[in-house]
Amino acid sequence: MTSTLITNIGELVTCDPAHGDGSPLGVVHDAALVIEGARIAWVGAAAEAPAADTRIDAAGRAVVPGFVDSHTHLVFGGERSAEFAARMAGARYDGGGIAATVAATRAATDEELRSSAAARLREMRASGTTTVEAKSGYGLDVATEERLLRLSRELTPETTFLGAHVVPPEYARDRSAYVELVCGPMLDACAPHARWVDVFCDQGAFDHEETRAVLRAGVAAGLAPRLHGNQLGFGPGAQIAAEFGAASVDHCTHLSHDDVAALREAGVVATLLPAAEFSTRSPYADARRLLDVGVTVALATDCNPGSAYVTSMPFVIALAVREMRMTPGEALWAATAGGAAALRRTDVGSLAQDCSADLALLDAPGYVHLAYRPASPLVACTWVAGELVHDTGALA
Ligand SMILES: [Zn+2]
Repeated sequence: MTSTLITNIGELVTCDPAHGDGSPLGVVHDAALVIEGARIAWVGAAAEAPAADTRIDAAGRAVVPGFVDSHTHLVFGGERSAEFAARMAGARYDGGGIAATVAATRAATDEELRSSAAARLREMRASGTTTVEAKSGYGLDVATEERLLRLSRELTPETTFLGAHVVPPEYARDRSAYVELVCGPMLDACAPHARWVDVFCDQGAFDHEETRAVLRAGVAAGLAPRLHGNQLGFGPGAQIAAEFGAASVDHCTHLSHDDVAALREAGVVATLLPAAEFSTRSPYADARRLLDVGVTVALATDCNPGSAYVTSMPFVIALAVREMRMTPGEALWAATAGGAAALRRTDVGSLAQDCSADLALLDAPGYVHLAYRPASPLVACTWVAGELVHDTGALA
């Protein structure tokens, strides 16, 4: 197994409280780390670093854990820039445009879906993302939902069955028949390609009984629950996530006092998606209220063609800092270790010994630059499982 020493790291964020001053970010200055195969083999002060087969000089720049984007709709057909322009001109977002993406996705070939998703994944890697969750939900028939999950599995193990995204037009007059389809033949076809089951539990989407029925069926089929909830208005999403012991409830823009208490008590991660609020010109989630009572907060892109065609986690970090009053440190933790918690992963989102060697080298002396210099391409190199997958030439 070959080993690589990355040394002369000006600021290394490990997200391992065993390092640094014991704070969650675990920051080490004048640091080094050793990658052995796909894993982190050693982390510490540059002066104490062991020898390795190859040596990379970070030249005083910062290294952070690769971002864990725990909420994306990565595989879809078409795009909806006209809808975005209409919304910016004053039209209101109500989720209705999903039907346009469903039509484009059903009409696309496997190869078209595969190549557009791969292009988005390349953008993600170029902005430092190393773990991506990907949902179905733009097929809404058995064959297309199965296809979306099969194609997603080619790109990531974190695949989510979201047959209950919206009720497709052909079932508009018989919602219960659609829920039965989702819980029956669609789930049977999709479960072999999925790790998670998800429901869009919100105003105009699925109600509490429909949500519970889909989650119950998904869990019985061996999938782990997560939810879209409380995006468009107050509703039962957060409470149902707590009741089912879901890993995460995502959006969380409209939470009652009881919702916040339920998330904290059940240990459900609140995944905030500020790019969706940015792109729909909606009020942002109240991150401070969640953080101040000890709810675990994750940040993700929600990458999708309707409400957030965003692949960049640094952009999400900048939004979280500027618009949701998170500190740069809280936002970086939420985009790495927080995302890992939302996916119940302990091998990613931090740079502790034996973790996956998933990391980003920044063209900056410190992680604060991610929020301080929004829209600058600060990620010089990205490694996934020890493999260099993005390099701007910074190592030359
Ligand atoms: Zn979503």
